[in-house]
Amino acid sequence: MTRLILATRNAGKITELRAILADAGLPHELVGADAYPDVPDVKETGTTFAENALLKAHALARATGLPAVADDSGLCVDVLNGAPGIFSARWAGRHGDDKANLDLLLAQLSDIADEHRGAHFACAAALALPDGTERVVEGQLRGVLRREPSGTNGFGYDPILQPENDTRTCAELTPAEKNAISHRGKAFRALVPVVRELLG
Ligand code: IMP
Repeated sequence: MTRLILATRNAGKITELRAILADAGLPHELVGADAYPDVPDVKETGTTFAENALLKAHALARATGLPAVADDSGLCVDVLNGAPGIFSARWAGRHGDDKANLDLLLAQLSDIADEHRGAHFACAAALALPDGTERVVEGQLRGVLRREPSGTNGFGYDPILQPENDTRTCAELTPAEKNAISHRGKAFRALVPVVRELLG
């Protein structure tokens, strides 16, 4: 069975991506980057989600000699011309401080009327082979930004993004409901035929 490395050490993400790829019927063995502790983390120096996903996938494929999959994602706000975008995880200055990031964004948008609060989550999913072959696909989840956080599921900006055609925020969806419509779900489902094409 072909081993496919997922470029993340986040256990939640590994579980989520395993479920998405297994649901799609991929027979490959999916292993988190944790299985290769000597591989150094990559600096995300790209200027787009796609560039950063490719950087991570190539680094892991080169270091392990195995096909590697990586993703990069974030929140893009219409009225901020797509920001926080690739800076989503460190919008308030410190990497991964979800509450500070969300509070800062809400404060920045406090004067923005409801009809101008459109935004989307974006995700790029990349596959890289040790020989340098690469593919990248993208997925989006469109919605509007609430004025107050609501819900306790999920992470990051989930409590303020209300997907279009729903009355709940992403943090009020079950994990299965979110996977079905999410940017990450869409990107990884789009990657499945690519994995099949390149790896059989
Ligand atoms: P990364 O792709 O793990 O680097 O995620 C970047 C950042 O984007 C996260 O720290 C979150 O702030 C935000 N983000 C990405 N995907 C989601 C999501 O599904 N829900 C909420 N926030 C997200």
